[in-house]
Parts: sequence; C-alpha cells; structure tokens
Amino acid sequence: MNADVRSLSSHRPPPAFDLVLFGGTGDLAMRKLLPALYRRFGDGLIAAGSRIIGVARSAHSREAYLAQAQAACRQHLGADYRAPGWETFAATLGYVRVDATVAGDYAALAAILGDRPGVARIFFLSTAPDLFAAICRELAAAGIVTPESRIMLEKPLGEDATSARRINDTVGAMVGERQVYRIDHYLGKETVQNLLALRFGNALFEPLWRRGQIRHVQITVAEQLGVESRGEFYDRTGALRDMVQNHLLQLLCILAMEPPASSAADAVRDEKLKVLRALRPIGEAEALIKTVRGQYRGGIVGADKAAGYLDEPGVGAASRTETFVAIKAEIDTWRWAGVPFYLRTGKRLPEHVAEIVITFEQVPHSIFEGPFSSQPPNRLVIRLQPDEFITLRILAKSPGEAMRLKPVDLALDLGESFKGRPLEAYERLLGDAIQGNLTLFMRRDEVDAAWNWIDPIRAAWDADEDGPRSYTAGSWGPAASSALIARDGFAWHDEQ
Ligand code: NAP
Repeated sequence: MNADVRSLSSHRPPPAFDLVLFGGTGDLAMRKLLPALYRRFGDGLIAAGSRIIGVARSAHSREAYLAQAQAACRQHLGADYRAPGWETFAATLGYVRVDATVAGDYAALAAILGDRPGVARIFFLSTAPDLFAAICRELAAAGIVTPESRIMLEKPLGEDATSARRINDTVGAMVGERQVYRIDHYLGKETVQNLLALRFGNALFEPLWRRGQIRHVQITVAEQLGVESRGEFYDRTGALRDMVQNHLLQLLCILAMEPPASSAADAVRDEKLKVLRALRPIGEAEALIKTVRGQYRGGIVGADKAAGYLDEPGVGAASRTETFVAIKAEIDTWRWAGVPFYLRTGKRLPEHVAEIVITFEQVPHSIFEGPFSSQPPNRLVIRLQPDEFITLRILAKSPGEAMRLKPVDLALDLGESFKGRPLEAYERLLGDAIQGNLTLFMRRDEVDAAWNWIDPIRAAWDADEDGPRSYTAGSWGPAASSALIARDGFAWHDEQ
C-alpha cells in the first residue's frame, strides 16, 4: 500500500520493530512512554521479535533499568498494570549507556541493533532538544540509520522559527521528511480523533461549520499546576511557546481546516498548513490589543495554597515570563472571515481542563415573547480533558402549560457510549510511528508556519515596557482576558 493511503490510525497487524529510546531514564519515558508500550504489549500489539532499547548517559545494569521501568509502569498504570505479563514484556527491554555527545559511545548501540532486515527501526528522541543535533550526527556517522528508520521528536521544536529551522535542518540532513515524526501529543488524544469523526463522519455539521452559522470559537487549555520542577525550563519558554505554538494551534487547525480529500497524512497536513498560513498576523501594533499575557502571584488553587511564579524554584526574581496567554486569532479565509477564535491557556488556573466551545449564531428572529425573546445561542462543547465528552446545547420547552424555554444538553459521554478502553495519546502515537503512519505528526512546514505566526507576538511583547499582568493563582487569569473577549460582546464559557 502507498504509505500515503492509510487510515488515521492503522489497523494492520503490527510489524516487529526496534525502538531506541534516547532519554530512556527520563521523566517522559518513565511516566508516559514505557507505560504506553506496556499497554500496547497487553493489547497484543508488540509483535514477536520487537525490542525496546533504553538509552541514557548514566550507567545502569539491564536489571536495574528493568526494575526502574517496572516500578514506573506499576505506578503510572495503577489498576491497569497487569503483573502476569511483565516478564514477557521485560524480555523485549534492554538498556545501553550512550553519552549522546560522545561519538565513541555509539558503537555499543550499533552492535546491539545489528542488521535486521525488515524490522522497523525507530529512534525516539526524548531528550532536551539541544542534544538532537549530536544524536542525529552521531547516529548517521555510526551507520545506524537505515533508509527505513524513523525519528520521533518530542517538543519543544525550537524556541522560534530560526532555532526550529536549525533543528529541522539537522534532522533533515540525516533522514527524509517522510521519516520524521514530530510529536504533538494532543493530536494523539481520543477526543481530537473524535473531532475529526464529528466533522468528517457526519453530514450534519459541515453546512454549519462556517461564518454565518458559527459566531465564535473558544479553545481553552487550563492547568491547575504551576511550573513544578521545570522552573528553569519554563522561565526560558513561557506559555506562548510551551502551549500556544503547538497544542492550541494544532487544535485550531483541526477545527478550522477544510475537509481533506482523504485521511492520508499529507492530505490532512496540507489542510492544516493552509489554516496556519491564513492566520492573520499579529504584529506590534495589534499585539497589545489582541493578546493578553499574565503571570500568577500567590493564591489558592483548589484547597491548596500556591506560591507566586516569582517564588518558584528556577525562576528569575524579576522574570517577565508569561504563565497565561489569551489571544484573539482570526483566519482570513472565506469560511472563517469575521469569526474570532479565542485561545486561552495558563498555569495555576482554577481547573485542569482542555475544552473547545463553538458558539453558533443566534436565531434571526424570535417568535417567543418575554424573557424568551432573546435566546442563548446553541453551543457545541468538546471536552478533551480531564474527561472526554461532547455536548450540544439546544433550547427545549420545559414541561408545563407555559411556553418556557430552557437550555438542555445533548450529551455524548465517550466513556459511557463505548465500552472499549480509550488509548492514551502516546500509545496511539507510538503505534502509528511503528506502523509508519504520519497523519498525526506535524510536518516541517506546519512547524515553520506556526512559529512564523508566534514570533511577531513574542517580539511585540519583548518590545513592550510593561511586563505580563499579574493574576491571582486560582483565578481565570488577568481581568484583561475577560475584557479582550468582552470587547466583541462575548464572554468566556466559564463566565457565562
Ligand atoms: P528528563 O527527565 O530531564 O530526562 C532527560 C533524559 O535525557 C534522561 O534520560 C537523561 O539521562 C538523558 N540525557 C541527558 N543528557 C544526555 C546525554 N548527554 N546523553 C544521553 N542521554 C542524556 O527530561 P524529560 O522530562 O523526560 O523530557 C525529555 C524531553 O521531552 C524534553 O525535551 C522535554 O521538554 C520533552 N517533554 C517532556 C514532557 C514531560 O512530561 N516530561 C512532556 C512533553 C515534552 P541521564 O539521566 O542518564 O542523564
């Protein structure tokens, strides 16, 4: 089959693979990647003869690595951890010490990999991005990269267009674009897949999915957590680069793209790219009107006291890094002209929630009188986390003699409706990379286009003498965020 013509997630029998996990002892590997692989194993999706090779700089015996991996799977899978399978899974696991920056260390990896024709070879780079260049260079020099090899890259892919280009050039010098799997784990989420199903599996929504029918769209990704142990990293990065450039823009693309001709990787990615390129630039003149940035001060989140951002370990005392962003984005196409997309993300907000809210136009003329003459518009809410559901708010008559209208939700609870266990994002993404399916991974030109939209906003903020606005931990960000959307006559979903 042509590699382009594959379904969103392949259902062919899984091929045997060698997965080399750089950063194999790190937080991401232990918390997400190894548990995801163990789940795949439990589902019978790790073909016989496959190998998973953890790679990191420190020396560990294979036994010690296995013990660490088992403890991590037990801890992070909780009730889903199935003890009986562990020994068989562990037989696929190995460890090799390689300092990514030392050419001589790669011989040990080359020896282990050997020559296994027909076995997919996947390098997952779960290390800091400043190691990507050395890893790519040395893998190539050691002759380990085969024409079929695949490289999976974790975010962040650079901190601006220039640094992203540098990373992509380095990777591109070693492998072709069709061998590069750039991860945005949001694209692996079950509800994001459902968004595609909703839009392109049902004829119902397509006529409504445009200006004239949709009034505005909100995308919120809110975290209760602060920067935890990532203070130093976060202080160099900020919410715009950490969240908006990738996760929020990818969600916006899936929502706003034209129907692709098929679910083939490039058909979908071409359409996403067109959205990114149609985003109206926000330059210095507009940035202070169309964007709001904030930084949390001490407060209460849930029931717990939370320190202010400037008191977090690893954060500079006079830091101007934003921990909250709200943006009014506009897409200059026939479909979306005049429909604002409000993006909002932040740390230390009252809830841990990722949600898309699509507000439809109001009825053009009400036949009802009194309080029902002005009816709230229909609203489609797509919740991605912590729970996954889709609701369509409509107005219905409440029982009784009088004609009273009340909003009610047509609700699709995905957990209730389908008995099957939903896949974790990394399970799906690892599975797709093993199968060679690129649809849910970002192509290089998408990454470039996203940075090209983000960079002028960043530059405008850097040039602004005022820093981010302060907000209390546990609130929904600075008051200016409400004002941003109120100027257009709307309110955030949680404020309605
Ligand atoms: P981490 O816990 O700091 O782990 C870093 C890993 O890289 C360790 O296994 C470390 O091995 C290895 N490493 C460091 N220097 C090395 C070298 N010179 N040669 C070989 N290996 C080396 O980082 P992480 O949180 O797992 O994150 C990994 C990447 O994923 C980062 O780019 C991060 O931004 C990204 N990411 C992480 C998360 C997350 O939830 N953690 C989420 C999204 C993206 P030693 O321990 O032996 O030094």
